[in-house]
Amino acid sequence: MQNRRFFIANIILASFALFSPTLFASKRKKYSKDMLIGKEKIKLYGKGYKMQKEAYLALEKMRKEALVKEVRIHVISAYRSFEHQNRIWSRKFKKFKAQGYSVKEAINKVKEYSAIPGTSRHHWGTDVDLVDYNKKFLNNKAIHSKYVTWMEENAHKYGFYRVYTSNKFRTGYNYESWHYSYRNISKFMLEDYLKLDIVAVLKNEKIAGNQLFTKPFLKKYLDNNVLGINDYLF
Ligand SMILES: [Zn+2]
Repeated sequence: MQNRRFFIANIILASFALFSPTLFASKRKKYSKDMLIGKEKIKLYGKGYKMQKEAYLALEKMRKEALVKEVRIHVISAYRSFEHQNRIWSRKFKKFKAQGYSVKEAINKVKEYSAIPGTSRHHWGTDVDLVDYNKKFLNNKAIHSKYVTWMEENAHKYGFYRVYTSNKFRTGYNYESWHYSYRNISKFMLEDYLKLDIVAVLKNEKIAGNQLFTKPFLKKYLDNNVLGINDYLF
């Protein structure tokens, strides 16, 4: 009798162990293709910039508490739709083409800092470009200001992590001191994003230079750029 009870208890525990990952997985939101590529009209929050509610609240809390230490966090850009990213992409592409670069070279120049529309983390409403209010421009120089120190010590406490770090083993975009991601949501969005067939998704979009978006090109781009991020954001 004793043994049988032990056996049943073990069976129950084993089934929990077996099913609990599924239970946990079903608790989180699933993100649609359109939401992941900046084409869904989602509810966004923020004045002068837009983010998903939870990320917005975390950012405002961080900005408020930084202010107590006289650190002023300025938001340059947060949510961007597919169309918005496409305007940035095509403006930069045209600029490089006008300078005499080939299509391939122009694409390579643009993607040093800018994502192909449909592949930007700015589509998610979780990622944001932040700078020191006193120097309102994107700057990679390692200035040891009060702002830089405060961000390095505190941003993670509010759930924000740098994406394009200075780690020399990281591939893809250049180092961006300003780009932060709200990990609590973005790690799940990345998980769903990686399930999309990006070649098929981008095939019918009007994007400058897309005659070069072949399967091997996009596969390499995904590996280097979309996955070329801070390890902690997976
Ligand atoms: Zn950014």
